[in-house]
Amino acid sequence: MVIKYLPLLSLCLFVLNAYPQDQEKAIIKTFHSISSHDLLNDAAELSSAKYGGRLSGSPGYQAAAQWIADQLKEAGVKPGLNDGTYLQYFPNAYSDVLNPGSVTLMSGLSNQRKEYKFPDDYFPGSNSASGTVSGEVVYVGFGISAPELGYDDYKNVDIKGKILLMETGLPYNGNDSTLKKWEKYSYHRYKFQRAKELGAAGLLYVSKIANPNTLYLEGFVYAHIGEPVAEELFDGTGLKYSETSTAIKKSIQPNSFALNKKVQISASTKHFPDSRSCNVVGMIEGSDPKLKAEAIILGAHLDGVGSPGCLFPGALDNASGSIDILAAARALATSGVKPARTIIFIFFGGEECGLYGSTKSVESPVWPKEKVLCMINLDMVGNGTGFHLSNGKTYPELFRPFAESNEKYLHRDLSSNEARINYGRPRTDAAVFDKAGYRTLSLWTTGTVKPVYYHHPLDNTDALTPEIMEDAAKLLYLGVLELANDQTIEAK
Ligand SMILES: [Zn+2]
Repeated sequence: MVIKYLPLLSLCLFVLNAYPQDQEKAIIKTFHSISSHDLLNDAAELSSAKYGGRLSGSPGYQAAAQWIADQLKEAGVKPGLNDGTYLQYFPNAYSDVLNPGSVTLMSGLSNQRKEYKFPDDYFPGSNSASGTVSGEVVYVGFGISAPELGYDDYKNVDIKGKILLMETGLPYNGNDSTLKKWEKYSYHRYKFQRAKELGAAGLLYVSKIANPNTLYLEGFVYAHIGEPVAEELFDGTGLKYSETSTAIKKSIQPNSFALNKKVQISASTKHFPDSRSCNVVGMIEGSDPKLKAEAIILGAHLDGVGSPGCLFPGALDNASGSIDILAAARALATSGVKPARTIIFIFFGGEECGLYGSTKSVESPVWPKEKVLCMINLDMVGNGTGFHLSNGKTYPELFRPFAESNEKYLHRDLSSNEARINYGRPRTDAAVFDKAGYRTLSLWTTGTVKPVYYHHPLDNTDALTPEIMEDAAKLLYLGVLELANDQTIEAK
């Protein structure tokens, strides 16, 4: 061992010595009680058909939330709400997709008719209106009218009664103050509203993922298509879809035109505008009379994208994170060494619909913000060989317990980074807390070993690597316990 590593080594020894030997033994015993077998069983439970893909607002999600609340109760984790309940409600409209519907190319160069296939070619729109629309296809780039930015995808094209072929996202891709000006145009809801108000009959959205973070509009039928379908619709124009899209992003100049094709989209849905959903909130009260006034929040979204056409189990996204939080909750509740600070567990609803649950959490906090040490979010932590715990370079005092626990007991790759300002719209529950002024860390897995089926019917338990889920839960247990007992850190 060379001299320059001595400070690090002595820091490790300090931590090992932080607990007397009998306490360390008790911690290790709890550590070993976390098993991949149990985690996989729990992930299979949440991914099962009885919860219907856990679409926030739906009865399936509600049943999954109740299952989590029951597990917390059984583990001795108390209700996290002031009124003594586990479920924190908020409004959450949603739509049921009753069958895959259809997307059909009606006429092309050779007057062909082609039925596209679900789920290979297209996914139905999670918030599509019910019905059938057909019309000529017009490519409208990003579907944005931003006069103050000198950009309008709808200039010079007639879209009345037409089917739009549209991109998600923005033509502008920098992360700087200019992005702030573009932010409002990045929302699917804005794009749908704009298309409808200009009289479009329907929409083919080039992003083949199921996505409930869209907008239900009376009579507006849409579906998600993959790039190969978009390329096929470009046939005969002399242009490639991918090159056209890239050129718009490079120049930030719109390039919209009719594709001389006719398409029909059918959808069968039922909209529930007045539904509600909930976060599941549990709490382990701190054991120290003074430090228990401070809390650490662990969060993961419990909801998924539902069953648009078939079951989308949401195993990696995000049964994995929810189950890891649950495992850490069980371990911390039964740990021989009790956390001195209070630990709060939040299983968010409405993440996929638009971060509703985390927004509710920061708007109606269950704990005073100035007494929260940090929020740690888990999203997609079940496929890989290593970990990334974000923002550790900005908050080294929060990162240290995890780095040391990993080094001593888990030996996984563990990377981190500096926190950075996000000029665009928040995309995760952690970003919502971040924006509200909380210190946040986000844990996810790295070194992917299996294909990732994001918002896809194949995101089932076969897509998980249970051993990394076990280590994630162990890392959380050790790191959070150490954080909860560290006298040197202060809530800000
Ligand atoms: Zn997710």
